[in-house]
Formats: sequence, structure tokens, C-alpha cells
Amino acid sequence: MGQGELEIREFPDPVPGPQEVVVRVKTAAICGSDIHMYHAPKRQDGKSGLIAGHEPAGVVERIGEGVTLVKPGDRVSVYHYIGCGKCKNCLAGFWQWCPQTKGLGAHVNGADADFVLVKEQNCYVLPEELSFIDGSFMACAAGTTYSALMKLQPSGASTIAVIGLGPVGLCGVAMSKAMGAHVVAIGRRKIRLDLARQLGADAVIDVATSDAYAEVRRLVPEGVDLVYETSGAIEAHQLMVQILKPGGKACVVAGRGPEPGINAGALIGRQLTIMGSFVLPIWMVAEMAAFIVRHKIRFDRMVTHRFRIDQAKEAFELFDSGECGKVIFEF
Ligand SMILES: [Zn+2]
Ligand SMILES: [Zn+2]
Repeated sequence: MGQGELEIREFPDPVPGPQEVVVRVKTAAICGSDIHMYHAPKRQDGKSGLIAGHEPAGVVERIGEGVTLVKPGDRVSVYHYIGCGKCKNCLAGFWQWCPQTKGLGAHVNGADADFVLVKEQNCYVLPEELSFIDGSFMACAAGTTYSALMKLQPSGASTIAVIGLGPVGLCGVAMSKAMGAHVVAIGRRKIRLDLARQLGADAVIDVATSDAYAEVRRLVPEGVDLVYETSGAIEAHQLMVQILKPGGKACVVAGRGPEPGINAGALIGRQLTIMGSFVLPIWMVAEMAAFIVRHKIRFDRMVTHRFRIDQAKEAFELFDSGECGKVIFEF
């Protein structure tokens, strides 16, 4: 995959080694980071030939020697970074920071296939209340959001602006509503603005047809307490600084590479806190699952399109267009 091209190919079925598990994929969702890889130049190290995808849920098919945490037939959500399990970051539950971490679809074969091979610890057994779609959201979009919101701590006493209404932003709307916050959703494209409204946003701002800064100031004259920034757009990073109230906090989960600096004067004068957040630590998966069950978060309502894997080209083109909510493959 790369340079706007993808290929559907046959691969041999993976065989689990010691402490490894093969999961039969039931749902695998497309992510914004898949779209970056889809457009990126093809890599010379052969990684562009890997199976894409890192948002799987499915059923344990085969287990390797010594596996005790799961058994064949278990319904699981799959955590998508495979750490060494021994380094300081792995022991602390931050497998995404392991120096030897292997991301599904980035370093090893990913999840947009009938089977995916991971370590047993990567499998989180889904409680019966949660579907495979919930499991796919937990793997990335919901996990990224839950981890960021744990840093921001929205509550019934706070106002949060969610910027960007792709699936990660939509998770931000639904999950910060569940935490009790007043939610201002800021995005573009009717389909996504409508989804934000349906998921409980208290106000929705279309940046294509209105002055987002003026609208936020009209709705929340003192500025918002919190911002969850999911768009990665430079204008959004500027807006984030403008709309925070003194002492406000923002968490950024999108954007790559160098960009013009944010206004240091505003940061200093209003004592703002701007944080980054990167997926979720593996230790947080169980806590998030309990939160999703308790608050009955309806991730299925964010899914607007379902495809078979042989329709991958169509699915990627649709998600790339932005005229959709979450796009998933079903197997
Ligand atoms: Zn993802
Ligand atoms: Zn490690």
C-alpha cells in the first residue's frame, strides 16, 4: 500500500509461536493513519507490502505453546502494538513506547485480513455486552480518545470543544458526554456534523460556513475549559489556543511534522496547558471497556459504511473523501 495504491493479495495463514495467538478477524476498521500510509511514498524496506490495518476484533482461532490468557473461541479486541514485554515501558504497560514495539500494519502484518497474529497479552476478552464493532473501536479510535480524555478529565462542571469530527472526534463527543461535560463539536461535512449531534453534542459548529472562533465565543464567552483536537489541521491548532479560557487545557492527537508555532504569548498569558496523547497504554484497555459498558457508548452509530475486504479500494477512497463516519471491513 502507498502512493494511492493498494493490492489485495493472498498470504499464508499465520502460525502461532510460543505465547502467540492467531485471531480470526470479524471486524477491522479503517483509520486516519491508514490513509496517511495509503498516500505515503512506497517504502524501500518492504514494509509497504505488509497487510494494512490495526483496528481488529475477532475470535481466537489458534493458540501457541504456553498460552494461558485466552482460549480458542474467545471474542477479543486486539491491542495493536506488540511490545517486548520486558523493558521499562512494557512493564509499565506502555507497549506503544517500547523501543522494539511492532505496530500492526506498520512493522508486522496487520489486521485487514482473515487472520492476525499477536501475543496473548494483546487480546482483551470482550464482555458479552460489547460487540466486535466495539472491540474494533477500542483498538484505536475509542482507545486514543479515552486516554486523551483521562488527561483532560472532563466532567459535569466543564465545557469541552472537540475539534475534528472524524471517528476519533466522534468518539470524543460520545465519551466526553458520558463523562458529563458540555460538548461543543467543531468540524465540517454535513454527515459528520449530523453524527456529532446524534451522539449528544450540545452545540455543533460547521467551520465551512461559520467563523468558528466567533461561534465558540458566542456560545461560551469566557472560553472553553478543555479542547480535544483530532483534526491535525494547522488552523485547528491555532483555534485551540484562541478558544481556551485562562488555565484551560488541550490534548492533541493528530498532526504530523513541523508546522508554524503556536502563539507562545497566549500560552503564557492565559497559562494554557497543551498536551499530546498517543493511542492508549495496554493497561488502560480493561478500564476503558468497563467505562464503555457502564455508559453504553454506541460506537455502532458512528459506523456509516461496511465493506468486504475485496472492496478495499472503494472503502479507502470513501474514507479518504471524509464523506462518511467510521468505515469498517466485515469478515
Ligand atoms: Zn487507528
Ligand atoms: Zn518493551
